[in-house]
Amino acid sequence: MTQSFAQLDLVEPIQRALRAENYETPTPIQAQAIPHLLAGRDLLGIAQTGTGKTAAFALPILQRLSAERAAPVRNAMRALILTPTRELAVQIHESFRTYGRHLQLRSAVIYGGVGQKPQTDALARGPDIVVATPGRLLDLVQQGHVRFDRVAVFVLDEADRMLDMGFIHDVRRVIAKLPPARQSLLFSATMPPEVESLVKGILKNPQRVEVTPAATTVERVQQRVLFVDSADKRALLADVLKDPAIARALIFTRTKHGANRVAEQLDRIGIQADAIHGNKSQAARQRALDDFRRGKTRVLVATDIAARGIDIDGITHVINYELPNVPESYVHRIGRTARAGADGIALSFCDASERAFLRDIEKLTRQRLAVVDTHRFHRAGAQAAAPAASRHARQEPSRNGRQEPSRNGRQEASRSGRANGGRRGGSRQQQTTRAGAAA
Ligand code: AMP
Repeated sequence: MTQSFAQLDLVEPIQRALRAENYETPTPIQAQAIPHLLAGRDLLGIAQTGTGKTAAFALPILQRLSAERAAPVRNAMRALILTPTRELAVQIHESFRTYGRHLQLRSAVIYGGVGQKPQTDALARGPDIVVATPGRLLDLVQQGHVRFDRVAVFVLDEADRMLDMGFIHDVRRVIAKLPPARQSLLFSATMPPEVESLVKGILKNPQRVEVTPAATTVERVQQRVLFVDSADKRALLADVLKDPAIARALIFTRTKHGANRVAEQLDRIGIQADAIHGNKSQAARQRALDDFRRGKTRVLVATDIAARGIDIDGITHVINYELPNVPESYVHRIGRTARAGADGIALSFCDASERAFLRDIEKLTRQRLAVVDTHRFHRAGAQAAAPAASRHARQEPSRNGRQEPSRNGRQEASRSGRANGGRRGGSRQQQTTRAGAAA
């Protein structure tokens, strides 16, 4: 395995940018993918966000484009990266700018939900690199703002999620317009059959690189569980957040409604907090993410879907205000801290009705969470509760009727379940079986 970036044959301006970011050693996907990409190979990367996959493709692309200098051509680009969400598009674009800061390359980012003028202006300047979500890109294609004839490198990011989100037709339409002589890369966390068929259609004799971050992520995070009555969770959270060591916390709830409620409660007691979830406008989500990234807000409350792919360094704590009913989501959640080598702390609040979820999580991660019983809301009863409730029972509206209708919980569960299940050979059906076994 490559021990340092110096061994990776990256040009000095890129090495310098990496040093400034304090990247010392390549992550496994970087070490495995970069040499093949520098050699011009196509690549199938089975990896999820959090593994360092962005740099794995961005660094060789930057190197190639700066070596093959070319005058800008209106509305054309030399590298095209398609990614499913606006947040990811913005993050990937920022990564290109960061790693390419000593290279004279131009980039543009294209996504929906905002005015198109700045984007068409950026395209008109002939960027070297375009990072885009498929819908808006096709929109601009139809209006005559995009030409693909100079695309030399194409990246399809999060292919499985494109599928989940119903973007696959748009993706295929874009691909059909690309020049056939190009270097192509496809990344996916899981490999459902539809992604396999995309791979066959897009990649030529690809190098396959697979990394499985779940176990290693889990090992690096200190995981603790706090048993508590559900009615006391709010006060427990307020107590927990008094600890100044919690510099930047991402809090998870199962529902959008829950996320809003927790953020509002925190605001009321003077703790700056924002919520992000699918119901918020793009502008509001981006603002919340930016404020959190800059440290203006200390706490961000999110649902599983909204947080997937969030890439923010320096999250010191992940707090599971509610445990996820799909254990794989727990692994994803706690992976938001412990990014690429850092350590992190995950605190999980568990009430009696969530014992079954906790047991599923401990089964999946093959480890017991350390019990914190020194807080003033500790409930031995919750700890001792037989984990008899099935996931399905838990998804019904709670006693106080404030939980969202169960349909929402299920939607989130099934989507994240699907997104994560494939790698482990799991499926919805298997998850249900596991839930059944837990009951
Ligand atoms: P990604 O999977 O591309 O979303 O990257 C996850 C996070 O890891 C990002 O915050 C990157 O800035 C960070 N990162 C990527 N590569 C490295 C590396 N080699 N060393 C340290 N941090 C890294």
